[in-house]
Amino acid sequence: MERKKIVIVGGGITGLSAAYYLQKQIRENQLAVDVKLVEATERLGGRIHTIKRDSFTIERGPDSLLARKPEAMNLVQELGLEDEIVYNGTGQSYILVKNKLHKMPKGAFMGVPKEIKPLLASNVFSRKGKLRALWDMVLPKSKETGDQSVGALMRRRFGDELVDYQIDPLLSGIHSGDIDQMSLQATYPMFHRLEQEHGSLIKGLQKTMPKPAKKAKEKKSQGMFFSFENGLETLIDRLEEKLTDGTVRTHTAVDHIEKKEHGYHLLLSNGEVYRADAIIMTAPHNKVPKILSQYDFLKNLYDIPATSTANVVLAFDQSQIKKDIDGTGFLVSRSEKYRITACTWTHRKWPNTTPEGKALFRCYVGKPDDQDIVNLSDEEITDIVLRDLNKTMKIKARPEFSIITRFKHARPQYHVGHIELVADIRANAASELPGLFLTGSSYDGVGIPDCIGHGRKSAEEVLGFLNK
Ligand code: FAD
Repeated sequence: MERKKIVIVGGGITGLSAAYYLQKQIRENQLAVDVKLVEATERLGGRIHTIKRDSFTIERGPDSLLARKPEAMNLVQELGLEDEIVYNGTGQSYILVKNKLHKMPKGAFMGVPKEIKPLLASNVFSRKGKLRALWDMVLPKSKETGDQSVGALMRRRFGDELVDYQIDPLLSGIHSGDIDQMSLQATYPMFHRLEQEHGSLIKGLQKTMPKPAKKAKEKKSQGMFFSFENGLETLIDRLEEKLTDGTVRTHTAVDHIEKKEHGYHLLLSNGEVYRADAIIMTAPHNKVPKILSQYDFLKNLYDIPATSTANVVLAFDQSQIKKDIDGTGFLVSRSEKYRITACTWTHRKWPNTTPEGKALFRCYVGKPDDQDIVNLSDEEITDIVLRDLNKTMKIKARPEFSIITRFKHARPQYHVGHIELVADIRANAASELPGLFLTGSSYDGVGIPDCIGHGRKSAEEVLGFLNK
C-alpha cells in the first residue's frame, strides 16, 4: 500500500504540536503515513522566540504559559521538561490610572472581581464606581442569547469605571485588541455562562472558583504562569528534537497550493513541489487567501482583523533606576495619555532571566488607536517608551540595550460573530478542499496552551480523514 503524506504548513507551536502528535500516533499504531513540516523562516517557533544577550534571557514574543490549562502541562510532562519549569514571581501588580500607579485589587479573576473587600478597599475607583460595580450582584441576567462583545457584558454588569480601569487593560492587553469589539463567545464564554447560571459574575466566580486551601495560603503561593529556566524556546527545541529526522524543512515557504484529483500539490518557494494527501494549514489566516488564491470563499478570512503591536525590551543596571517599585509590573488604563499599554518588571517577575544587579523591562506599544507606532524606528520607539516609564519610575539613563520586536497585523482579533465566520469558512473548506484543515491562533484560541490543543486536534482530524 502506498504511504500517505501529510504536509504541515508553518512551524510555530501549532504546527510543531501537530507534527509531534501525528508522529506519536503513527508510531503507536504503525501507520503508513509520512509527515513533513514546511516553515517559511529560518527558525522554528513562530511567535515564540527566546534570545540570550549579556547573560539576560529575553523573550521577543510571548513570555509564559497559563498553568491551569492542561494542554501545555500534559505536553511538557510528555517531553520530560518538568525539571526546567519556572513559575512567575507573585508580587504586587499595578494599574496606571490618572497618571498614578495603583495596586491592582486582589481577589479578581481576569480582572473580574470575585472578592468584594479588596474592591471596596481599592483607591483605584470612586465610591460611585464601586457601588456601580456591586450592582452586578442584584442586576437581573440579560436575555442576550447570541454573541455580544465582552465589553457589552462587562459594562452592563459593572459599569464603565471598573471596566475601563481594571477589566479592559487586562483583557484588551492580552489580545492586543478592543474589549468593546471582542466576541464573548469566542474569547470568554465562561462569563456568559456565569451570568446565565448565577445571575451575577461576582456570585458565579465565588461559587465556581475553588478557594485556596488554608495551608496553600500560608505557604508562598505559586505563580499562575510558567516558563522554563532558559526561556520558552525550550519547548520548541524539545519538540523539534522529538520529530523524526527529515520532518522539518525551514527557510522554505509554501507559495501556492493546488488541488489535484487525488490530494494536493504544494509549490514551495525554492521551486520544488510537495505532494500531499492532507494538509494542516497553520500559517496565519491573512496569509491563506494568497496561498489558495483560486478559492474566493477564503477571502472571507480577511474579515478576521489582525492588529499590530511591538514588544520593547530594555535592559539597565539596577543603579540607574532611581525609583524602583516592588512589584511585577503595571497595566495602563486606555484613558491615560500614555503610549505604552503595559510594562512587566521582568527582573522581578522572572528573576531567572536577569543577572544580579541588573533590571529588565518589557513594555508593549500599539493600542487599537495607535497602530502606526510600530512603523517608527527603534530609536523613536525606545524614546517614547522611556518617556512614558519616566512619568512613574525615574530612570535616569539610557538602557544598556533595547530590543524591539514588531508584530505587524499579527494579532488575530476575534470580533463579535467570529465563531460563525470561522464555521462558515471551514464548512466551505470541507466541501471544496477536503483534507485541508485550517488551524492555529487565528481561529479557536490564541494562548500557547490553546495552540497546543489545536495542533493535537488537527492531528486527530487529519488521521480520521485519511482513515475514511
Ligand atoms: P505562529 O507562531 O505565527 O506560527 C505560524 C508559522 O507559519 C510561522 O512560523 C510563520 O513563519 C509560518 N508561515 C507563515 N506563512 C507561511 C508559508 N507560506 N509557508 C510556510 N510557513 C509559513 N500566548 C501565551 O500563551 N502567552 C503569552 O505570554 C503570549 N504573549 C504573546 C505576545 C505576543 C507579542 C504575541 C504576538 C502573541 C502572544 N501570545 C501569547 C500568543 C501566542 O504566542 C500565539 O498565539 C502562538 O504562539 C501562535 O502560534 P501559531 O503556531 O498558531 O502561529
